[in-house]
Amino acid sequence: AWASVQAAPADKILGLTVLYNNDTNPSKINLGVGAYRDNDGKPWILPSVKAAEQVLAKTETNKEYVPIVGSPKFNELIKKMLYSHDEAGKKLLEDGRVLTAQGISGTGSLRVLGEFVRTFYPKSNKVLVPNPTWANHVAILEKAGLTTSKYSYYDYKTNALDEAGLLNDLASAEPGTVILLHACCHNPTGVDPELEQWDKILDVVSQKQLLPILDMAYQGFRSGSPIDDLAILFKFNKAVVDGKLSNFLLSQSFAKNMGLYGERVGSLSLITAGPEETTRVKSQLEKVIRPLYSSPPSHGSKLVEIILSDDAIYQQWLEDVRVMSDRLVEMRKLLHDKLKNTYKNPLNWDHLLNQKGMFCYTGLKEDQVKRLIEKSVYLTSDGRISIAGIYPANVDNLAKAIHEVTTN
Ligand code: PMP
Repeated sequence: AWASVQAAPADKILGLTVLYNNDTNPSKINLGVGAYRDNDGKPWILPSVKAAEQVLAKTETNKEYVPIVGSPKFNELIKKMLYSHDEAGKKLLEDGRVLTAQGISGTGSLRVLGEFVRTFYPKSNKVLVPNPTWANHVAILEKAGLTTSKYSYYDYKTNALDEAGLLNDLASAEPGTVILLHACCHNPTGVDPELEQWDKILDVVSQKQLLPILDMAYQGFRSGSPIDDLAILFKFNKAVVDGKLSNFLLSQSFAKNMGLYGERVGSLSLITAGPEETTRVKSQLEKVIRPLYSSPPSHGSKLVEIILSDDAIYQQWLEDVRVMSDRLVEMRKLLHDKLKNTYKNPLNWDHLLNQKGMFCYTGLKEDQVKRLIEKSVYLTSDGRISIAGIYPANVDNLAKAIHEVTTN
């Protein structure tokens, strides 16, 4: 039956992992991986997650299906986590305007939002995504039946935000177009708009009545606090409450900030006009989800429920996020120090310090990346490095390799 099936092109990142795994060099370095590693280069189960697992082992009484949109407790806690820290968010909650659902991590949440937009948003089936963006964004949205096109985002000359290009592209968008925005720690560039730049973006988005989808996969990795990283969401909440922006959608993931990658837990939220609309929209959201995967997985969401509702475990989680985010900042500084002070590399590496979150867009060119891979340093051809792959024992080798390919 499958004789005519052609092999698909290898996934950029998974292909890199295969090469890395097959490399016998004991000093090999993997900077492709988009998952947190500790100071010894090992995966980390958060102490808060361990604590929640112990509670769950004692208290769990069933493995029944959860409701299509996730458990009521999960949804209450998600609303509290996302919408109870600012006045506008509280107002939206009070007015019954927030509808949330558990999603299958960030990917599944985006797919459901994509399906919902394609089915029920009459103004446009086109989504603008940043150039560049996480490669899966385009695939997720297009598989949901939407079309995508790019808006300017990154300035390759300055390794910073292309503010003028971005605002210009949004200003020339068709009114009503959907626009995907990374809430913080943009993947792959590590470049986020500053708060004043967000105001300008929101102005154009409002003028053009664009429908924003906020993708928040790295909540907590920008500032070290998951609550402080909601600053962007607060602006969107306020714009809606003030009647400036009519709506937005949000996808959120616990893969990174709780280290629950493989548990596949996250959430999606929609803003409605009020309780009656919330009920209607929820009934259709259920119709979208049911044939896709029936109902979401429950193990990870039960852990999230415990972490978000047990005061001591919640405090531990905040500390865990801080530990991860601090370590990434430290590694940025260490690599910068090695490049500039130990190896006296002539290039400007300020962007290593200025970019936020798990990734840095180094500015390394494709041929330099190729030479790095020959030196057993693995990264994607666009020059993106995962800062989580750096640790004290490999940073010197890494800086030396980068110095060599950029100076010879
Ligand atoms: N959005 C962005 C920008 C991401 O980088 C990722 C993870 N790489 C996701 C969403 C979703 O990841 P997950 O499905 O594992 O939550």
